[in-house]
Amino acid sequence: MIIDWTDFEPLGTEKLNSAPGVCVTAAGSISVYASVGPELELWYGSLLDGHVWSGLRLLDSEPIVSAPGVVARTPGSRDLFVRRPGYQLGHKAYDINIGWSPYEPVGPELFTNTTPAVCSRSTDRIDVFVRSATDHSLFILAFDGKRWLVATQLETDQLPAAPAATSRGSGRMDVVFQGSDNALWHKSFAANTWSASTRINSGITSSGPSICTASPTTLDVFVRRSDNAIWQTSFDGKWSGYEPIGTETVATAPAAVWANGKVHVFAAGQARGLLHKVGTPVPATSTQGDWRWCSKCQSLFFGGQQATSRCPVGDAHASQGQSHSGNYTLPFGVPATARRQRDWRWCDKCQGLFWGPGVNDSHCSAGGRHATANETGSYDYCLPHSLPISPRRQDDWRWCNRCQGLFWGPGVGSSHCAAGGAHTPPEQSGSSDYCLPHEASRTALV
Ligand SMILES: [Zn+2]
Ligand SMILES: [Zn+2]
Ligand SMILES: [Zn+2]
Repeated sequence: MIIDWTDFEPLGTEKLNSAPGVCVTAAGSISVYASVGPELELWYGSLLDGHVWSGLRLLDSEPIVSAPGVVARTPGSRDLFVRRPGYQLGHKAYDINIGWSPYEPVGPELFTNTTPAVCSRSTDRIDVFVRSATDHSLFILAFDGKRWLVATQLETDQLPAAPAATSRGSGRMDVVFQGSDNALWHKSFAANTWSASTRINSGITSSGPSICTASPTTLDVFVRRSDNAIWQTSFDGKWSGYEPIGTETVATAPAAVWANGKVHVFAAGQARGLLHKVGTPVPATSTQGDWRWCSKCQSLFFGGQQATSRCPVGDAHASQGQSHSGNYTLPFGVPATARRQRDWRWCDKCQGLFWGPGVNDSHCSAGGRHATANETGSYDYCLPHSLPISPRRQDDWRWCNRCQGLFWGPGVGSSHCAAGGAHTPPEQSGSSDYCLPHEASRTALV
């Protein structure tokens, strides 16, 4: 899945002591909780409709010494868990008719020394996952609708950080955690049975994970890695490799939640202020594959009609057998964003891709200018640009200000432009750094 990410935006200047805790309410608002300021107080804020931010406000002045774990198991409720001084796990409940309860102790003392993770697999159940204070193994504490059951050990490995949990449907739970090998591990619960723990990603993480879900068949996990940026790995039948969601660095583990078809990620930035980033999936039906690189002229062209294409070097653009090009997948018909530029068009004379607004100044290798979108009915392609390096994309694709086409930048020295000579290098054209999603490397990742 291709996700378009916004940059991190600051949500206030209050200083967070730990990662935020988030949950989504029935109305689609996102509630954010955090330990704030020198007194370690619990503060909260709401993101209405995914973008109207309330600001952070004090909720409870008693000190807390972990990030909050929180879940909304019914539309009018919240259950929030924190570590309180003395390794004690505290539970605070919200009822829309009553308001917030004070903290009540849960489980034995000396029990947790990290942030508790919480999920709800039905409206009367709460499951809390904690790292044991004595041996750092993973325990589960369950509320069955009437009482808290005896805590049981779920995993004997020694966790370096807090686990994360979510439910993707009735009776189901997924827990992820950083193992003692610093890789990411997963355990799932279905049909009243826990699976074995499996290592889902061998890449090293430097924080505990955050997990969220958009559907019963998908999971999204976010971690801070050694570059202090946030990376994503996703499950959709199988786990993907890590992908960065931006280049910004953060000071805490992330917290992530899906709401109204978008994924929201929160973390404290280097100055400890709350940051927020939104990811919008680009529908798979809005992408077209079989765009190819021509090894003769360095341009991008539509491989589905290679036989009728025209290369400035002569004859058709290089065939797949000649160039061994990757299979580039271009988004089309989707909104422009700060990182995606629309109005790129296909020319049916040369089969090349070119920047539509420049058509009158363009040069086509079949003669004259490229064919306009009115003439061809071309899709409106939206090219991603200025994104972090990723194994799923190839950056350094450039716009030529003479032919208006797109070409592979590192090949500019051996390129051929329909306007004569080589394509214009980006230092002269001022081209953005376009990043093309790449099917071949996506397959290679698995
Ligand atoms: Zn060519
Ligand atoms: Zn053309
Ligand atoms: Zn050119």
